[in-house]
Amino acid sequence: MTKKPTRSWAVPLALLGVVGCTNAEVDDSSESAPKDAHVTAWVPGTPMPTHAHAEGTEHSLEIDWIRQGGSLEDLTDHSALVIRGQVESTRFDVIRTYAQSKSETQPSGEESGISSDLPVTIATVRIGDIARSSMALESASGGTIAQGTTVDVMFPGGLLSDGCTLAPKDNPLPKVGEQAVLFLTPQGGTEPMAARSMTGVYSVTGGPMGRVQVQDDLVQGEPVDALLDRVEARARAVQYMGPDTRKVPAQEPTAQNWCGVRLFGYKWCRRPANITYTDYTSTRWPVGDALNAWMYTGVSNSLYLYWRSSGTSDVMVYEGYYGYTGWYGYTWNSASGGCMSGSTVKLNNTYHTGSHYAKTVAIHEIGHTIGIEHHTNCNSIMYTDPTQCAASITSCDAQVASQLYPY
Ligand SMILES: [Zn+2]
Ligand SMILES: [Zn+2]
Repeated sequence: MTKKPTRSWAVPLALLGVVGCTNAEVDDSSESAPKDAHVTAWVPGTPMPTHAHAEGTEHSLEIDWIRQGGSLEDLTDHSALVIRGQVESTRFDVIRTYAQSKSETQPSGEESGISSDLPVTIATVRIGDIARSSMALESASGGTIAQGTTVDVMFPGGLLSDGCTLAPKDNPLPKVGEQAVLFLTPQGGTEPMAARSMTGVYSVTGGPMGRVQVQDDLVQGEPVDALLDRVEARARAVQYMGPDTRKVPAQEPTAQNWCGVRLFGYKWCRRPANITYTDYTSTRWPVGDALNAWMYTGVSNSLYLYWRSSGTSDVMVYEGYYGYTGWYGYTWNSASGGCMSGSTVKLNNTYHTGSHYAKTVAIHEIGHTIGIEHHTNCNSIMYTDPTQCAASITSCDAQVASQLYPY
């Protein structure tokens, strides 16, 4: 059985608000971690991060949000709870998931003894106003949601074992005192390690979109009360549609908007590009097919992506029931001097709807692990919602892979 660690927030709280890594002096007598080691999430209840950050290394987190470019009405329809609130406190936690296997002879789940921790930050938010509360929702203390009670809101990103914080560039970690209108959904899924339960734990609908900063009672130049009135009016007119209904328009390939796929600015620098992948997902996720899709294209490249069922590889791929987090995929890359040194992919089973979904998302996330960012439509599988696209890479993708990794 897994032992629940005691809650110990005192020191890490002091680190909150630190962007990047701690500047504490490294103790020369301590053994520094090997530079190629995979940095992991700091685990609640364990000793403080060791300031083992390898100088020059950057950690970057690409979150694939499900809802892109929706309207206020759309956000309202898919949020069970819309509040105006203020962040009272924050804490770091992790969602631990276990290795799964595609083979019946290899142990899966806790039995495997192999786990991966998703770093998260939980903000306790005091509710000022409620613009929508569509069902019997609970506060963080287990009582009914009301003005003056609190909810816990979970954000992706948190504290790493080397003393750095990790946050998606489009959605910074919450800060104490932050005031916002928040569009929320009960998160569900696997509970974080130090949380007592998922009662009163919400995620933000649409990630950064559903988190509207309030400053001097204004949101984007509009009085916050006016915005809340619009949400209330919409909530009266249209019932809550649930977190999983998607309304992203398909964006067909167009001759006018060809290629121009964005890059992260780093890549694997070894030649040829021999990259190993450990696939700790079940048959739910066709990771091997996704590797083949990038290797065998119509345009030659020097990618050699090796699929492995266990062990430590350059890229580690995990799945988990992360809940209605607002994201389907998550790729965390480490790079130094423009060269990648490691990557971890998390695939969210909660939104999994079948083989087309799984294949498009797998190819998309593998694209992130070789240094490719996003595209604005289905001319590339790197479209922000690849599930709308064909389950294969396009000739644009083939060209980009060949440019990054010339044969
Ligand atoms: Zn670091
Ligand atoms: Zn993506």
